[in-house]
Amino acid sequence: MTALLELDGVSVSYGSMKALSDVSLVVPEGCVVALLGPNGAGKTTTLRTISGLVRPERGHIRFRGRSIDRLAPHRVSSLGILHVPEGRGIFRSLTVAENLEMATYALRGAADSRSVVEQALDMFPALRDRLRQAAGTLSGGEQQMLAMARAFAAGPELIMLDEISMGLAPKITEQLFDTIRTAAASGVSMLLIEQYVDAALELADYCYVLEKGRVVGVGQPEDLRDSDALAAAYLGAGVA
Ligand code: ATP
Repeated sequence: MTALLELDGVSVSYGSMKALSDVSLVVPEGCVVALLGPNGAGKTTTLRTISGLVRPERGHIRFRGRSIDRLAPHRVSSLGILHVPEGRGIFRSLTVAENLEMATYALRGAADSRSVVEQALDMFPALRDRLRQAAGTLSGGEQQMLAMARAFAAGPELIMLDEISMGLAPKITEQLFDTIRTAAASGVSMLLIEQYVDAALELADYCYVLEKGRVVGVGQPEDLRDSDALAAAYLGAGVA
């Protein structure tokens, strides 16, 4: 399988605090990869490093074989790497329609921005009735849908999702997971962080387990489900 994204021996520090040590991982084209691990394991830092928000002190990041570890965040997103951060990253004072239009500005090639917005709205029909509403007045679930719709409207090659279920009711979370399944089935590659380990194992083709900034387990969900690495990483964290 072709590697879409590759991290090779990536280390990151915040001042004297080492957040990632020698992290290597691959997102194959058309696959969903989950990052698992307890709070503070380095999952968010991994996504922020790929996005160009944090610079690796060591190692390489390649996208379609091209080195991206020195690119500014807007250059990374213009390659089609879309990051939906924890906290969602939407423009709260703009309307839903304006949020979606802005997301299409960096569209590559001849894509018609109206049609990609339409496609994104087809994935999240609840947003259609809210197009003229300020994003900040949406419910938490609708805000998360908007954040994801923005990523889909930007012509993604790879979508990175950080804890989309955070603070949402189980029913809404299940709807969002359904959308992820549909998008994955249509071939969009994803790298996701998810607090619900069972859901992540069910959604993913491959999983990486991080603990204290290191990869301590990797494999297909069925291999990891009952593994010592997964249990040990979460031991005491009360999540698994
Ligand atoms: P969580 O699920 O709690 O977000 P995580 O696995 O995503 O955890 P990170 O947020 O990547 O972990 O954090 C990794 C380590 O880096 C933690 O020890 C955290 O305290 C530290 N850290 C994260 N961001 C910063 C920052 N901006 N400055 C200093 N330390 C940070």
